Amino acid sequence: MIIARTADEVAATVSGPIAFVPTMGALHEGHASLIRRAAASGNAVVVSDFVNPTQFGPGEDFERYPRDLAHDAAIAEAAGADVLYAPAVDEVYPDGFATTVDPGPLATELCGARRPGHFAGVATVVTRLYGLIGPTQAIFGRKDYQQFVLMQQVARDLALGVEVVGAPTVREPDGLALSSRNRYLSPSERRTAAEVPAALRRLARAYAAGERTEPLLLQAAATEGLELEYLALRATDLSAYQPAAPAVALIACHVGGTRLIDNIELDPAAPDAAATLLDAKDPA
Ligand code: AMP
Repeated sequence: MIIARTADEVAATVSGPIAFVPTMGALHEGHASLIRRAAASGNAVVVSDFVNPTQFGPGEDFERYPRDLAHDAAIAEAAGADVLYAPAVDEVYPDGFATTVDPGPLATELCGARRPGHFAGVATVVTRLYGLIGPTQAIFGRKDYQQFVLMQQVARDLALGVEVVGAPTVREPDGLALSSRNRYLSPSERRTAAEVPAALRRLARAYAAGERTEPLLLQAAATEGLELEYLALRATDLSAYQPAAPAVALIACHVGGTRLIDNIELDPAAPDAAATLLDAKDPA
């Protein structure tokens, strides 16, 4: 694997179709699973490692976001990346850069309601990175479900020629989704954070038991222990919930100063699957 600082270095290293995994670094097993998925496609695998300033709002954690290129390189290489592309800010945003990709109304809902401009920042950097790298496929985690749906929409709307693939969420044994931000949690906050998958697990169990009524499903997930930003039930394209159609339950909350998000997909054709996915496992 090589570490590239410029798109020209990437182009000089890889040939043929590219599977692309955009990240902000601080790589963990969740990112590694995306990279393995990209490698399994048989395409050359490019992983970007760029903490994108334009998707952080004022007062968010841009400055303290963890950065460790040597750590990221070891994980990316072990997972099968061919190139770790770690550009400088002025390679991504050169002088005169003025374009914004606005992903429309869905970008103002759910996470976008409290993070104005966040998804425009993501859509802009991802579109720019596609232009720099030229992938045929991009792998996103379903952990950031709204981001995944919006990136599918952007690729479709702008006919970018990139197939957007959603990969499953990798979790800790107690169900907490892996996240670069989990390291901000104190030991007691980490225990509180386990309530996030626990709330989704209760909802998934109610769904498995046959409950389809939106307020009752949300009630099953109700939690005193978390400072909730939202708990929502939607169709899988994030339009309004339809009881007979595949759905997704989404949660965002704050534990101490750390913002956590998670979701679980619910399928009326396999109603038990979601609860099983979230069952706490014995640590290996
Ligand atoms: P980020 O952590 O924001 O740099 O995310 C980079 C990519 O990794 C995004 O597509 C995320 O959805 C994905 N990702 C982050 N955490 C996980 C996880 N626990 N499981 C699977 N994918 C993840």
